[in-house]
Amino acid sequence: MRDMTMVIGASLANGTSNLPLTPLTPEQELATRVRLAQALQMSLDPTEVLTSFYKHIQSAVSLSGLVFKFGNNNPDQKIGRECLHHCDYRLTTDEGYLGEIVFSRSKRFADSELITLEFLLSSLIYPLRNAIRYQTAMRLALLDPLTMLGNRAALDSALNRELQLAERHDHELSLLMIDADYFKKINDEYGHHRGDLVLCEIARSIQAVCRGSDIIFRYGGEEFVVLLGKTNAEGAKIIAERIRQQIEQTHVSYNGKSIGTTVSIGIATRHANKAKEHINDLFDRADAALYQAKAKGRNCVISSDDLEIIQ
Ligand code: GH3
Ligand code: MG
Ligand code: MG
Repeated sequence: MRDMTMVIGASLANGTSNLPLTPLTPEQELATRVRLAQALQMSLDPTEVLTSFYKHIQSAVSLSGLVFKFGNNNPDQKIGRECLHHCDYRLTTDEGYLGEIVFSRSKRFADSELITLEFLLSSLIYPLRNAIRYQTAMRLALLDPLTMLGNRAALDSALNRELQLAERHDHELSLLMIDADYFKKINDEYGHHRGDLVLCEIARSIQAVCRGSDIIFRYGGEEFVVLLGKTNAEGAKIIAERIRQQIEQTHVSYNGKSIGTTVSIGIATRHANKAKEHINDLFDRADAALYQAKAKGRNCVISSDDLEIIQ
């Protein structure tokens, strides 16, 4: 069952000098609704659905702006410009609250126009619900549910994009491969659930010391990857060392005990003025550096550039 509660803004009560548009005939309303329904089915992007809705209803009710306030954490979607007179509708489906839509313009809304708007709104609700649902599903498909960091699929596409950008603009790009040390022992000693909490703390520690432009992923198990755009090997070493220290200082408390962990970090850098490199090569170099960090005793940072100098 659809629940569309209308909340008319106080500004509707004032001003009577502007005459409303001639109301649509039932046939015109139906034709508009059919066109609208067809148009709204063309996209699964909430922004496109709302923009298409806004464009199509102009022939029935003239508007200056529309704002949609999502029921989830998405930022408000604004189309056109906000004006003095507005009318707000709470959109609810049988699955719950979808969001709030606000129409506005400089002339007051007439009752007949509000009836038309409500009639047309009923065509928006389900296409918009489907688009929001699809967008949410797409977003979740790229997230690791435990840490809420990007997952491996998200890393693949981000790394492709970042490497292409680095090559096109001839920037440096560094990749940190971070692996928790002796993590199996934490699970064995405190249980898998506590192990999960430690993984979340590692994720938060990495986020705490990274810059907004750095992109962090849970690569799998107790392994994390950070992509550092426009960062050379020296800069990457500084950030990696900060991450290592932050994690070393972080603890999860359990039954009066404190569970701590450390990480080993391998770095690979794509240098400027270098030939094209495959993503796998960058990974292999970071992996080789991580292997060396483990061999060196763990809780340390090694860059593949330094390995190449030693060899
Ligand atoms: P190393 O220092 O050589 O990396 O030792 P390690 O014990 O960390 O490495 P190993 O590869 O032997 O074991 C990884 C452990 O990580 C074993 C596995 O149970 C644990 N692990 C992987 N994914 C998860 C997870 O999602 N939650 C928890 N709690 N543990 C996990
Ligand atoms: Mg591992
Ligand atoms: Mg490990």
